[in-house]
Amino acid sequence: HCPVGALRERDDTERAFAALADPQTVTVVQVAPAVRAAWGESLGIGREQATVKRLVSALRKMGFDYIFDTTFSADLTIMEEGSEFLGRLKTRGDNPLPMFTSCCPGWVRFLKSQYPDLVGQLSTAKSPQQMFGAVAKSYYAKLLGIEPERICCVSVMPCIAKKHEAELPTMNSAGCGHDVDIVLTTREIDRMIRAEHIRAGELGEEEFDAPLGEGSGAGVIFGATGGVMEAALRSAYYLTAGKNPDPDAFRRVRGMDGWKEAAFDLNGTPLKVAVVSGLGNTRRLIEAVQNGKARYDFVEVMACPGGCSGGGGQPILEGEEPAGVRNENLYGLDQSSKIRFSHENSAVLRVYRDYLEKPLSHRAHELLHTDHRLWKMPLSPGASGRETAEPDRT
Ligand code: SF4
Repeated sequence: HCPVGALRERDDTERAFAALADPQTVTVVQVAPAVRAAWGESLGIGREQATVKRLVSALRKMGFDYIFDTTFSADLTIMEEGSEFLGRLKTRGDNPLPMFTSCCPGWVRFLKSQYPDLVGQLSTAKSPQQMFGAVAKSYYAKLLGIEPERICCVSVMPCIAKKHEAELPTMNSAGCGHDVDIVLTTREIDRMIRAEHIRAGELGEEEFDAPLGEGSGAGVIFGATGGVMEAALRSAYYLTAGKNPDPDAFRRVRGMDGWKEAAFDLNGTPLKVAVVSGLGNTRRLIEAVQNGKARYDFVEVMACPGGCSGGGGQPILEGEEPAGVRNENLYGLDQSSKIRFSHENSAVLRVYRDYLEKPLSHRAHELLHTDHRLWKMPLSPGASGRETAEPDRT
């Protein structure tokens, strides 16, 4: 069973066109960090020209009502996951470490099928895609003053596994069906732009809508291997020391190596972290941890080599592996961001002030966290291929 879903690719462009054509439907689209580093490739638009602001213009021209940035919910993920990690670190006797990141559904499926006894060590934080959907259909529906049922929440993702993640029986916390309705890959959005005869390279640049369009540089690097770890460490340092570190203090987790490790001092607490990408490296790391040959407190795992930049839904360039170049693009965007810490995202702070209260609050748990044991992997590739709500017994 392909853990990243690439062998069962499904085209959802017709569903997206139907939602755009329905005058009763309010279309809310989110754009994942890694998409901005690759969307121009299959349209023949050079990297300099293919900015995320030009993609926003193209989406607006296609008729999407509200255009938002998944880096907003990447920052929200860091607030939740970072707080969860610090809690687990304090109670390490009760909660075995390492804690594993949970924002890659290819990895979550791999873990559930291959190492089910480790599922309890996954962070309970949902992925940025799913956090965005839950916030869009609760907080944002309230801001708009409409019933959440009228919102069609569309994602543009570098990833095919995200289509399956959105359909999990547990991803409906806003209480009106799935929180994310349609997941389009980068390749699909490029096909839609072409089908609409939009010459995206010639468009002007436009801003994301407010408030869910605000993101930090820490959120942008989620698209690169090591980015989630680096973003989490920046905010974990702030939460423990009460002041920001140098934003580049954790740069040792960057780079295209498939298995990286680093030790840091988190305001007096020694911390050993690892970052892996690619499922072969992941298997080797887990076996080293289980054999006692490696010991970590926190591990980031991405199923695709290089992280989401090299995701299965990105444009395919024959004979090239462009994840490294795309990652450099994301790190450049982080460097030039006005805000480089998730905990300084003012839109995120406003959601907490007005709606969620604080990280790990009761409402944050209801909307932004999940129990990975509450759905079961299909038994075989020949089965329906759909996950069921029957809980795992692990
Ligand atoms: Fe999807 Fe990113 Fe995971 Fe690849 S690494 S399966 S693109 S979430």
